[in-house]
Amino acid sequence: MAKFNENFLELKESYLFSEVAKRVSTYKENHPEADVIRLGIGDVTLPLGRTVIEAMHSAADEMGMSETFRGYGPEQGYDFLRQAIAVHYRSFGVELDEDEIFVSDGAKSDTGNITDLFSRDNTVLIPDPVYPVYVDTNTMNGRNIVYINGTAENDFLPMPDRNVHADIIYICSPNNPTGACYNREQLREWVDYALENDAVILFDSAYETFVSDDSLPHSIYEIEGAKSCAVEFCSLSKTAGFTGTRCGYTIVPKFITSVSSEGVTMSLNKMWNRRQCTKFNGVPYVIQRAAAAVFTDEGQKETKAMTSLYMENARIISDTLSELGIRFTGGINSPYIWFECPFGMNSWEFFDYLLEKAEVVGTPGAGFGKNGDNWFRLTAFNDRKNTEEAMKRLKALFA
Ligand code: PLP
Repeated sequence: MAKFNENFLELKESYLFSEVAKRVSTYKENHPEADVIRLGIGDVTLPLGRTVIEAMHSAADEMGMSETFRGYGPEQGYDFLRQAIAVHYRSFGVELDEDEIFVSDGAKSDTGNITDLFSRDNTVLIPDPVYPVYVDTNTMNGRNIVYINGTAENDFLPMPDRNVHADIIYICSPNNPTGACYNREQLREWVDYALENDAVILFDSAYETFVSDDSLPHSIYEIEGAKSCAVEFCSLSKTAGFTGTRCGYTIVPKFITSVSSEGVTMSLNKMWNRRQCTKFNGVPYVIQRAAAAVFTDEGQKETKAMTSLYMENARIISDTLSELGIRFTGGINSPYIWFECPFGMNSWEFFDYLLEKAEVVGTPGAGFGKNGDNWFRLTAFNDRKNTEEAMKRLKALFA
């Protein structure tokens, strides 16, 4: 009989969003007239931009004509998209070679798939609270995970501990769920720590588009030395509303190497290329054309307009929390607002309370790690009217 991967026995039941959905649907069954506002799940609400849709339509037309039809494309992505991504990085002052850029179907797959490149015998450093994919994918591979605490005391931006050795380090900035964003000095410390430990940083920049403060980095490659130790994952999901369209990109610089237990050195770029060519057949041509349209001047204007709408919601939420004297992070360079549960409640208690008394849905922090037990996440992904109404209801709870 086929034996299963016993590491799956170590996975914690991932019940966060299913439990949220269950509680909301039970509430709605019992209160059919309820006007529930959802500020919970991190999914975009605005439709794709006009430029993106036009590019998608004309690419679809190309697929319908024998002269322009395309079959399998390059596993790494078409040149036109890799070039557009390289130009985008240049706007942060980062120079990349096109063969350091790998187009994919999104950052979730790539942050999970990258674990294929590393031996089981690595110590993995993961912040808590965190986007759960990093923990689960390493648990599936049976790796030793060491957690670093994100707390109110460090503004949910944990820094390296020189007494702890790590081989692989996950950093997500701007962060999901806390909305906190590392500055250059802090990222420099992480890069220095990685170089001292011969470690690899896996940097998730899925929310880079929300960075509005010019002093904050959009990419880890803005930090000197990062090209020798960091892989970066980004996505058009939140940048341009591609959560259902699916397109992302991963940067694996040619300078990064890793060693085997026998001392053999390998290039991570070559390994990732080999991995992708073996297990992935590329992103659909139509989607890559749509993705390239995001990086045109018109596309950038459209995505900036979407981001501003979301960030206006984030401001409305942050202002309300400030007015109520509730501690929070995020909401400035991130669509997430992470706040301390009021009334001495834990995050699930506050979830039920907010649903029952205000008919507003958020995400309990406990779903992102133990340091989230008393914290709560709201997202800016809704429209302004609903956000204002939700905040009015939140304020009423304190009246
Ligand atoms: N990384 C982080 C931190 C996220 O929050 C998400 C989605 O919520 C992703 C990656 C996944 O992005 P994608 O839709 O590109 O798979």
